[in-house]
Amino acid sequence: MLRIPKTKVQHFFDAAVPPAAYAASGDTVTFCCQDCYNDQIDREEIDLRVLHIPYYNPVTGPLYINDAHPGDVLKVEILQIRLPEYGVMSVRDGTGSYRMEGSYTRLFPIEDNEICFDAGIRLPVCPMIGTIGTAPAQGTVISETPGEHGGNLDIKDLGEGVTLYLPVAVEGALLSMGDIHALQGDGETAICGLETAGEITVRVTVCRPDSYIPTPFIVTKDSYLTTAADASLDKASIAAARKMHRFLQEYSPLNDKQCAMLLSLQGDLRISQIVNPAKGCVLQFPKGIAGEQFDL
Ligand code: CA
Ligand code: CA
Repeated sequence: MLRIPKTKVQHFFDAAVPPAAYAASGDTVTFCCQDCYNDQIDREEIDLRVLHIPYYNPVTGPLYINDAHPGDVLKVEILQIRLPEYGVMSVRDGTGSYRMEGSYTRLFPIEDNEICFDAGIRLPVCPMIGTIGTAPAQGTVISETPGEHGGNLDIKDLGEGVTLYLPVAVEGALLSMGDIHALQGDGETAICGLETAGEITVRVTVCRPDSYIPTPFIVTKDSYLTTAADASLDKASIAAARKMHRFLQEYSPLNDKQCAMLLSLQGDLRISQIVNPAKGCVLQFPKGIAGEQFDL
């Protein structure tokens, strides 16, 4: 199986970044990832402010997928996320949502799939990919922000067994990912999940759908999730909701008014994160209740 080593990292989604590896549609690939601090924090005494890290959030890749052309959709099945034996969190006043004095950096051990938090608190891990995306059609998008290309989505649902659909805007798609979290709540309110290095194994498949797919689009065991990001949470929330409205009209027998009503009854609008340059929302809707036909 193809493995991309964690030395093959960069901090941009950009068609000008040379591919780190090549794959065919249907291949299974493992991305070996640094943590969001570029693997620079291995002691709790390290002060982030003196590390002089020019960019956070390294992503491994990009992977060039043969026969992926602009206008296609890339299906990324998240098969496995392997965590190391600890994760890092670092908080201080002025980052994230909370007021606090000073700074606090912790390396929390991960034992038996549980996080050994402070004060005897143990939390089951729920591994997820924080940052995953394809290259945009033009220009550069820094890996710290989310957008229509994916990027720093920080959506806690992006774990094992989940499928993510991303746009293909350039030849080869140029898929990159990193920023693994062992656990993260909706909002990521203190600016970090339990940040870890690790290995992500995915299957990549090029799709040429006849109908609209609201990328970046997430399909879990029991839900569909549309996503949107904007500096304004108001705008992000409406954009995520409207994407699901259009998805239901495309794939169910219901009309626009019926879809709106059903979304108001059974759709859950959630804030995925409020700490990145563009904030994120998802509209989560249960599978199988709208008579929808989506089997891509
Ligand atoms: Ca992140
Ligand atoms: Ca992170």
